[in-house]
Formats: sequence, C-alpha cells, structure tokens
Amino acid sequence: MFDKILIANRGEIALRVIRAAREMGIHSVAVHSTADTDAMHVRMADESVCIGPPPGIDSYLSIPAIIAACEVTGAQAIHPGYGFLSENAAFVQIVEDHGLTFIGPTAEHIRVMGDKITAKETMRLLGVPCVPGSEGGVPNLAEAKRIGEEVGYPVIVKATSGGGGKGMKVAQNAGEMERAFQTARAEGKSNFGNDEVYIEKYLTTPRHIEIQVFGDGKGRAVHLGERDCSLQRRHQKVFEEAPGPSITEAERARIGAVCADAVARINYTGAGTVEFLYENGEFYFIEMNTRLQVEHPITEAIYGVDLVREQIRVAAGLEMDFQQDELKINGHSIEVRINAEKLPEFAPRPGKITQFHAPGGLGVRMDSALYDGYTIPQYYDSLIGKLIVHAPDRPAALARLKRALGELIIDGVETTVPLFHALLQEEDIVTGEYNIHWLEHWLETNLRG
Ligand code: ADP
Repeated sequence: MFDKILIANRGEIALRVIRAAREMGIHSVAVHSTADTDAMHVRMADESVCIGPPPGIDSYLSIPAIIAACEVTGAQAIHPGYGFLSENAAFVQIVEDHGLTFIGPTAEHIRVMGDKITAKETMRLLGVPCVPGSEGGVPNLAEAKRIGEEVGYPVIVKATSGGGGKGMKVAQNAGEMERAFQTARAEGKSNFGNDEVYIEKYLTTPRHIEIQVFGDGKGRAVHLGERDCSLQRRHQKVFEEAPGPSITEAERARIGAVCADAVARINYTGAGTVEFLYENGEFYFIEMNTRLQVEHPITEAIYGVDLVREQIRVAAGLEMDFQQDELKINGHSIEVRINAEKLPEFAPRPGKITQFHAPGGLGVRMDSALYDGYTIPQYYDSLIGKLIVHAPDRPAALARLKRALGELIIDGVETTVPLFHALLQEEDIVTGEYNIHWLEHWLETNLRG
C-alpha cells in the first residue's frame, strides 16, 4: 500500500479523497493555486504544495507542476478527483513514465472512452445497447442531412470530444440541421480543440440512468446498480437519486450484468460510470466516464461501500474488497448539488461566506469545503457542496432531505438551495415521475422573471 498520495484537485472532492486516505493510514498531499492558500483541502491534508497562480490552466491543470509536487513530497500515487486532469490520457501516461501510480484506469481506457465515437463503437462491440445514429463521425453537412432523414428527426449533433453539456445541438427537422451541425462543430473546436461530430436520434422523454461499475484491471468487474440523474439544467445534473425510481430489480440485474461484463472484458481498472438514456423500458448507451463521479456518494450510501478506498486499494494492486453477490441495496439515497449561483439565471456568485452550518443527524452527509469566513474564489466552478441523505425508503429520503435542507445555513452568497425547497413541493418529484426535460420546463414556468 502507498505511504503517501497526492490529490490533484481542490474543493469538496479533494477533501473526500483526503478523508479516505486518512482512514487508510495514508499521508495526503494537497496541491493548490495561490487563490486557494486558505482552502479547506490545504488545511486538512498532511502536507501542501502551491503549484501556481489562480487560473486552472496554470495550476490544477499544470502537469509539470503536479509531477514536481510528487517528486518534492515523495508522493507515490495521484488521485485526480473529477474534472481537471481526471480524464486526460496524456497526463496518465506522464504519471506512469515518472514511476508514479495514477489512481484510476489506464491511459488507453481513458483515451478510448474520452472520444465518444470510439467509446460508442467499443461498447457496441461489447454488447452494450446504443442510441441509433451515425456510424462514427459525420464529415459534412450533406452527410448530416442524409443521416437526419435516415434516423428520423429530431436528432442531436454531438461533438465527439464534448463534455459538461457543451458541444450538443438538437435539430428538430431538416431545416434546423445546418445550424445544429455548424454550432456543435464550432463548440467542439473552441472548447475541446476537435470539430468532429456525430449524430444520434434525439430521445424525447428519456430518463438519464447511469450504472456504476468497478473493475480490478485483471478481468473481474462488478456493478453497483444505477443512479437516476434525469433532473438536469443545460444537460448538467442538479439532483440525483439511487436506486432509480423507475428501475426494477430485474432491469438492474440485466443492464448491470451487461455493463460489468463489458468492462471486465477490457480489463478496466477502478471506478467507472456507464451512462444511458432510458425510454420505454430500453437502455441506450451515451457515454462512459472513466473516473469517480460527483454523485458517487448516493451509491456509497445504498451499497455501504467506500468507492475512493476501493480505488486506492485496486491502484495499489490489491484485490477488490467486494463480490457481486455481496452487493445488496439498502434503502434510498438522494444528492442535491449546491452551487454558489443566483436564481433564476444561475449566475455564478463567488464571495465571502459569513456563516456556514452543515446539517447533521441520522443519514445525512454534507460533502463541502466551506467554512465560516471562507471566500469562494471566482476562478473555479460554482459547486460548493453536496447534501446527501440516506433513509430506508424513498419517501423517508425525501422527508430527510427536506429536514436537512432546513438545517443548512449558508450566508454571504446566493445559492441554489431555494430551488431544492421548491422542487420538494412538486408532485412529480414526490412521485418520481420526471425525465431529462422536466426541470427545464419547470424552470421556465416557475422561475421566469
Ligand atoms: P456530456 O458528456 O456533455 O455530459 P452526454 O452525452 O453525457 O454529454 O449527454 C448529457 C445529457 O444530454 C444527457 O444526460 C441527456 O440529458 C442529453 N442527451 C444526450 N444525448 C441525447 C439523446 N440522444 N437524446 C436526448 N437527450 C440526449
């Protein structure tokens, strides 16, 4: 086992990894920008190294600075968290070339899954059901129009390197194809340096269901059920729950086995998420994330496992601590993402936290790097906390979420907390009847003006 690991990240996810390391008796090294000198992850880690100025590109994304920080501190492995360098295959290669261990999958797996076209092709060959659409990239507008007719409108044009909801445009009909095609290409180029796009049938009422998988890198893999992340704004998740209110035990076992088998066959290492759209009882693969997800705590809650601990163990060459038949669901869990944003526009609101009080009690977990007097820097994303509840069943989890939100105090900046108070009053949320478009429609009618 490692003596010391470095966390190439910040905020709540850096704390999450530091906590797992400490419980395992592993020393932790935080890295930080000059904007984060007073950040909680720096305070909580055993050691810290300043790696550059505030912009991510000069600090949390600076590969030479991170490798140097490992060399200076003697850290043997790097946990990337999510975002930043977590899905950068070149980074993983450099880490390995320096004799360090990347806590995550291989560079090759990240490369294959990071390109959505090769990911889809790989998964299709492994027997995973996919959304109908173009076979591979679409080179020009004429071809895009031909595929639009073939697949049937509406369709969605997606940048193969896209992520975070960027580089996706819907064409409702042939007349909208030119704009969708050019915009998706331009967004792919400007955000990800790659203008290759592909086309999929646009599903009109799906749910977003993702399967948590975990592999040992030696051909063994398990699944840890699904998370329903359908409540989204601009293709970004806002509220997640597990198990999914619409998924039966039989469906979970079936799609879970397909996913576990697929990742086992490619000798996948560590945590991964296979994302699907789910409509009329069918699953359609959209992408795989080769890292820990923001919403991993709801899976941890219902399965009673520490996914970060398992990631570290498998990276150190140990066996997985669980087998498929030992993984049983206990209760229901919900996570809400708390952002420093002003409603209704969701405009980022960095600033000073004048008062912070985290909720507590049975079945409540608050993953946050906030503290009284902390100043949220303007340079990074606006997620400031995740409130996770766990209860014996869904109605109890909703009641617990309402109670916990009532205890939470964040003063000094505006947050998305009022959104969750409002959503918990909605009949569709209470019954679990929602799809990926529900929240956008609701925001339009309820938060306008
Ligand atoms: P990203 O990598 O940006 O997260 P994804 O491919 O995971 O992109 O898609 C994100 C979200 O976009 C999905 O959860 C869903 O809401 C929507 N989406 C993606 N593909 C389709 C599709 N074929 N039909 C309908 N909605 C889609």
